[in-house]
Amino acid sequence: MSSLALHLLYRLINENPYFSCHRIFLPQGDLPPVSIESLKNIDEYDVLGVSLSYELDYFNVIEILKRSSIPILAKERELSCPLVVGGGICLTYNPEPLADVFDLILIGEGEDAIIEILNRYIEVKDSVKSREELLLSFANIEGIYIPRFYSDGKPIVEGLPRKIKRRVFKDFDRETAYSCVRSVDTVFGDMFLIEIERGCPMGCKFCVAGNIYLPCRIKSIEVVKRLISCYRDIYSKVGLMGPLVGGVPYIKDLLRWLIEEGMKVSVASLRISTLDEEFLELLRLAGETSITLAPEFINEDIRFSIGKRESNEKLLDVLETSFKLGFKNIKFYMIFGYGDYDLEISSLKNFKEKIDKLLKYYKTNVSFNFQPLIPKPFTPLASYNSITRKELEEQKRQVIDILRGERIKVTIASIRESLLEMALSKGGRSLLPLIIDRDLKTLLRSAFTPFRPIEFIEI
Ligand code: SF4
Repeated sequence: MSSLALHLLYRLINENPYFSCHRIFLPQGDLPPVSIESLKNIDEYDVLGVSLSYELDYFNVIEILKRSSIPILAKERELSCPLVVGGGICLTYNPEPLADVFDLILIGEGEDAIIEILNRYIEVKDSVKSREELLLSFANIEGIYIPRFYSDGKPIVEGLPRKIKRRVFKDFDRETAYSCVRSVDTVFGDMFLIEIERGCPMGCKFCVAGNIYLPCRIKSIEVVKRLISCYRDIYSKVGLMGPLVGGVPYIKDLLRWLIEEGMKVSVASLRISTLDEEFLELLRLAGETSITLAPEFINEDIRFSIGKRESNEKLLDVLETSFKLGFKNIKFYMIFGYGDYDLEISSLKNFKEKIDKLLKYYKTNVSFNFQPLIPKPFTPLASYNSITRKELEEQKRQVIDILRGERIKVTIASIRESLLEMALSKGGRSLLPLIIDRDLKTLLRSAFTPFRPIEFIEI
């Protein structure tokens, strides 16, 4: 329940008088998944919806279906089977690895589409004579991809669109993603999460938020304040979500208001150029003790080359100001496996010397979180070919050697998992048998196959 998309769709469906939405999670062990609200099996529902924001969850989708009586392959389902609908950012930029699993895939955003899909289901379910007829009845809903009627990215049934246009929710103030179910045992469960911004105009070359979730939309401050006020008695901490929260024009006013209301605040990762002393001070007053910055690379040339035009001078300035203001931990998001890494390594060495002095003086800590560059479709780096696993391991070793220190924590994403993510994010339908069989060895090899643009989707 840490995904705001899940909160949003769950609320929208349940607010509609004609529908009811229950949650199903994959239980540990080999128990069949049942709904939290009614302990029903999946096959007792009309529609099973899955939102995917992380490629490695593809294995869990298969596992959920394996433990139910719903056939894994869409073409093997009878008319009476639940309709299996997929959505989420992973299926938007590349639906193909799971295309044969889903009856329908929503390309894009679900705010309006979800109710259109359910309404259509109600309209036709008693009159259609076959599964094919049922599926075809969804064809004219914007953003809907019916994989069964496409082959190699082309429609094989007359009347279906050659290009599926990504669905975009334009009326951003009309619906808001926020925590509508309190689940204290989950990550961020103690916080009222609210999306105040979607998409990012900065367009960094590797970034999904900057290239796919567009246009950039900002929630009005009135809507944000109203929703926070409604949940004021339940939560004492607010998490402001969005890829460029620091760039929201009213952010300082909102922080001042939250401080006056006695609320604590947490913010998503911050762009360095949006941070000044006043902003940092407000965050401290709102109870934040740590911040997350995403310089991605310490070498400025490499950082600039991926579209992030922020100087190290500004980065060090933000660091020192944050330490002065009493922040206890600064977290850096970093990328490796890209660019001239010898240059990056020597820049990291210089940077480490500089921050060591600050850390000693202010007695604080920093942590570095590294992840290999994972090229995503529809970003300018989509066709970037990763360096080998051996080279990634070597860079990982170098990074650990350089940054090792008393006040520095280094976390490096699993290279194996990152390569799997890479393979799944750019792969085609041929990957499905490997996903079903969990043939990770072959999947890992496919991380290095050249990227084939996905032409039937219009982002
Ligand atoms: S600033 Fe951050 S969110 Fe925006 S495009 Fe760049 S990496 Fe993405």
